[in-house]
Amino acid sequence: MYTHTEIQTFQQKYPILIEMMELSPVFWMNPEIRKVANTVFALTDKDVKDAEQLWQRFAPFIQKEFPETRKGNGWIESPLKEIPAMKMLLESEYTSDLKGNLYLKCDQELAVAGSVKARGGFYEVLYYAENLAIDAGVVQKGENYEIFSTPRLKEFFSQFSIGVGSTGNLGLSIGIMSAKLGFQVSVYMSKDAKQWKKELLRSKGSDVVECEGDFSEAVSRGRKKTNADPKGYFVDDENSKHLFLGYSTAALRLKKQLDEKGVKVNSDHPLFVYLPCGVGGAPGGITFGLKQVFGDDVHCFFVEPVHSPSVLIGLLTGLKNKVSVQDFGLDNKTEADGLAVGRPSKFASSFSEQLVSGIYTIEDNLLFQLLRMLSDSEGIYVEPSATAGLIGPIELMKSHYLQERNLASEDITHIVWATGGGLVPDDEMKELLKR
Ligand SMILES: *Cc1c(COP(=O)(O)O)cnc(C)c1O
Repeated sequence: MYTHTEIQTFQQKYPILIEMMELSPVFWMNPEIRKVANTVFALTDKDVKDAEQLWQRFAPFIQKEFPETRKGNGWIESPLKEIPAMKMLLESEYTSDLKGNLYLKCDQELAVAGSVKARGGFYEVLYYAENLAIDAGVVQKGENYEIFSTPRLKEFFSQFSIGVGSTGNLGLSIGIMSAKLGFQVSVYMSKDAKQWKKELLRSKGSDVVECEGDFSEAVSRGRKKTNADPKGYFVDDENSKHLFLGYSTAALRLKKQLDEKGVKVNSDHPLFVYLPCGVGGAPGGITFGLKQVFGDDVHCFFVEPVHSPSVLIGLLTGLKNKVSVQDFGLDNKTEADGLAVGRPSKFASSFSEQLVSGIYTIEDNLLFQLLRMLSDSEGIYVEPSATAGLIGPIELMKSHYLQERNLASEDITHIVWATGGGLVPDDEMKELLKR
């Protein structure tokens, strides 16, 4: 916690903090954004392509172990859907003229985990498993990875343990994939994690440790416990390069989907993407990938709950993972699973500070309204956090972003990233819709 005077100094320097501390929704444009050509990162586009190849190697294993991925040949990917009825509903609700096209990237439909965490979480577990197996000589490079489904490999992995701290969705993806490979896996769940997520995980063979505190506390407890085991590996959402790379590969698939739909992206036809943000890994990784593919023609915005603007506070002050929302008197309490994060990822912040166009914040009430609007207009069901991007195009129109860059609103393609909700049980969804 800062002293009263320190807070005042921050507020003088960054007046938007005053509104944030009053829990008012804000729209922030990143003054430090760079042209892609002027960025400096710990990763390159080659790393994204290498990551894509890992998915390819594991596709036969995924296809074998998860029958629902057969029609997609073992790729974990989601559809891109145009949502014209939602667009009309947004326009009438906000008396705003949304020119351009509106699409939903349906990561709630990602196989097995039902959320964006399938991208990062599966990737990191598979990457670790591959390294272990090759180092021990139980798998050879170039071999068909169906071998990872054999009892021999499962027995090999059973001597190793994997741990992760989570508000729910990351735990589901790490827990499910690790258990499938044969690892001993423990998920340290924050207090706000939903009961059904814990039960589902246990039914898949994962150990669930219930923690009293929030996400950061679940992570630090899990980190300590896992690292105390010489054969333990901790998936560290607060600083993970591998989760980040797993997320980044989404961009290569999205490019193909846009090409198939004949959607052009260039300086006259910019792409705007709205991404719900927790620690910043998923939106940061996806943004990094998109910038490698589309350069300066893609504009990425993150969205955080008014109670948990961790990445915004980190980037605004430049202090990144050294500050938390609690330092500024915010309580990090939100219904938005996955976004209830008080402190941003160090690794992801070092990318986002150079690449993100802006961040806006949203109230929980609006998440529930958007959930209802999306189900009424399009018959699509997602979890509350996954709706946060839907208001992005409206927020953009209210801002000066387009005018400042001389961009014409009719030529924009908007993509709202729906990040999760595929595994929400029916009765739970009914409750969410009522709210
Ligand atoms: C985790 C999560 C996010 C955000 O990802 P971060 O890497 O934490 O920023 C967004 N939406 C949902 C549904 C999530 O589970």
